Amino acid sequence: MDIMNISSSCHSDFLRQVEEESGQNLSLCYQCGKCTAGCPYSLEYDIPVSRIMRLVQIGRKEQVLRSESLWLCATCESCSVRCPNEIDVARIMDVLRHMARKEGYAGIKTIKTFWDSFLGSARKNGRIFEVGLLMKYITQTGRFWTDLTLGPRMLPKGKIHFTPHVIKGRKEIAEIFRRYEEEYGK
Ligand code: SF4
Ligand code: SF4
Repeated sequence: MDIMNISSSCHSDFLRQVEEESGQNLSLCYQCGKCTAGCPYSLEYDIPVSRIMRLVQIGRKEQVLRSESLWLCATCESCSVRCPNEIDVARIMDVLRHMARKEGYAGIKTIKTFWDSFLGSARKNGRIFEVGLLMKYITQTGRFWTDLTLGPRMLPKGKIHFTPHVIKGRKEIAEIFRRYEEEYGK
């Protein structure tokens, strides 16, 4: 039987912090498991989403922030819709992912690298520059053969551009990133 060791490495402030940042009352969760039952990624998760909610309740910060599940979550919101206590579970997963990122945890490094490259591209160009994003991702992860076969098929369809398309509101978008970092950190 899987028993949680509640006494080991508990952070009493963790629940309060997650509730404050997400605006959710996670204390209402009574472990019915409906969120996990509806989660399309349950089979891939190292920790099911309902169990993550429980681990947050008992302050198991490190275990939660190290979890691969945070990086696999697709923010589909099925868990939020199914929760009988109207807890926005997807929002909590988002907050946890952000905390993990801020505190240097990356359950799945390649996914974190992709996110960072994606956001960096949006910040710099005002929209995504696919080739630049891909080059950054490949050089940082060493996955040189990723989606190699897609290029020749997309090229004739005009789907690949070799220079970024700079939009009018580029400065305003960069300003959104700046304000976000000012408030919540990188
Ligand atoms: S939002 Fe994430 S945790 Fe919730 S059901 Fe979708 S994939 Fe699962
Ligand atoms: S559906 Fe809601 S109450 Fe049930 S386990 Fe998930 S978060 Fe907790």
